[in-house]
Amino acid sequence: MVPGLRCPTCLVWLVHWGGYWRWLRAPLLIERIWIRRGRCAVCRRTHALLPDLVLARRLDGVAVIGHGIALRVIANVGLRPIAAQLDVPHSTVRTWWHCFRARSPTTLARCSALAVALDGSAVMLATDGERAALDALEVAWHRAQIRFGDAVGGLWRFWSRVSGGEALGTNTTSPWAGGSGADWMAASPFGGDVLERRIH
Ligand SMILES: [Zn+2]
Repeated sequence: MVPGLRCPTCLVWLVHWGGYWRWLRAPLLIERIWIRRGRCAVCRRTHALLPDLVLARRLDGVAVIGHGIALRVIANVGLRPIAAQLDVPHSTVRTWWHCFRARSPTTLARCSALAVALDGSAVMLATDGERAALDALEVAWHRAQIRFGDAVGGLWRFWSRVSGGEALGTNTTSPWAGGSGADWMAASPFGGDVLERRIH
């Protein structure tokens, strides 16, 4: 059994089902990390279990991506200076920003819902657009820390986990954390049957 991971469709526990290597670009190096796969005994689909330090189909660690997004949204830094500062290609930062913008209404809605589920009080934001999406993420993260403590980890790993690794995904039906449960505390299951493709 894979600890803490259930089939997103059938909700039964996954059993270990091998894995695969994927690339991760970290500061000063590109390394390969092992991605475990689990298999559902009911529907027989396999799911990749993405560690929360990465996002699906993104070469860079989620903390690097999050830092870049925050520089753009909060500090209003241009995409080229961000790319230079993070030492990643300009086209990569552009892709992150494009996906984050496209996804910000979903991020705002899902993070607000999660924050409300965590402590029952409404989320009041004085911001809108991409800033509101980031603010809602932070509110949900703070509430998760109050409820679950240090196990929640850093903001960007939380972002990866609650989005099922699809924080910058283009699939609108991806498995964001919904209810008040702590299913999202484990690594992010994503996809079924297919391996990650086209890592950017
Ligand atoms: Zn299943």
